Amino acid sequence: MTERKYPFPFTAVVGQEDLKLALILNVIDPKVGGVLAFGEKGTAKSTAVRALAELLPEIAVVKGCRFRCDPADPSSLCSECREKLARGAPLETEFVKMRVVDLPVSATEDRVVGSLDIEQAIQKGKKRFEPGVLAEANRGILYVDEVNLLDDHIVDLLLDSAAMGVNTVEREGVSFSHPARFLLVGTMNPEEGELRPQLLDRFGLSVRIEGVKEPEKRVQIVKYRSAYDEDSQAFSERFAPEERALSNKIDRARGALF
Ligand SMILES: [Zn+2]
Repeated sequence: MTERKYPFPFTAVVGQEDLKLALILNVIDPKVGGVLAFGEKGTAKSTAVRALAELLPEIAVVKGCRFRCDPADPSSLCSECREKLARGAPLETEFVKMRVVDLPVSATEDRVVGSLDIEQAIQKGKKRFEPGVLAEANRGILYVDEVNLLDDHIVDLLLDSAAMGVNTVEREGVSFSHPARFLLVGTMNPEEGELRPQLLDRFGLSVRIEGVKEPEKRVQIVKYRSAYDEDSQAFSERFAPEERALSNKIDRARGALF
């Protein structure tokens, strides 16, 4: 039997209060500048990030746009949406779930920023752009496990793009740009090498993650996990009121900010 597994609720993540708070602050105000989570492996970091994305309301995007441009912000449109507008075609809106994109440590620069097919551009005058991770992560969360194992150069690219909110690829006078606004969440295990201090400074918040030690909480974690594995739908329904309450709270905080 293959049934869809319901996502693990954010409000059912036991402990890790600092991490949860740091993530919530970043989704309220992306200008906080990302989260770096230090700590041991297997401490619910990835679960918490994915669960948060599920909890947030769907976002309005330009229908059919590969970069999920924001229809409410004409100044940040990608090259394709701008061309469409220039042709007089309307930009329709659709609503989609926020995405969590994983960046593998082996990612190359092309994989991160995307690539421009220069032959096509020169011969046919058409820009053909192959989106990279920055495009996929636009308006979502970019999750980088073991960010300290990435090439410094790649980390620089990520942080630059996160700070500027746009990714521009230029080759031989041809350029393509698209919005690249995302919440950057990096994790690292300090036992496996340090992150350059300059890079460290550029994450808005850093939190230390420790395994949950209190016996009652550990029992709760195990209970939740087995209840979820047994029936993810019933488990997610059980937490629906808490999830809604938190989602509304985040919404109100966003509203108060702008
Ligand atoms: Zn677009």
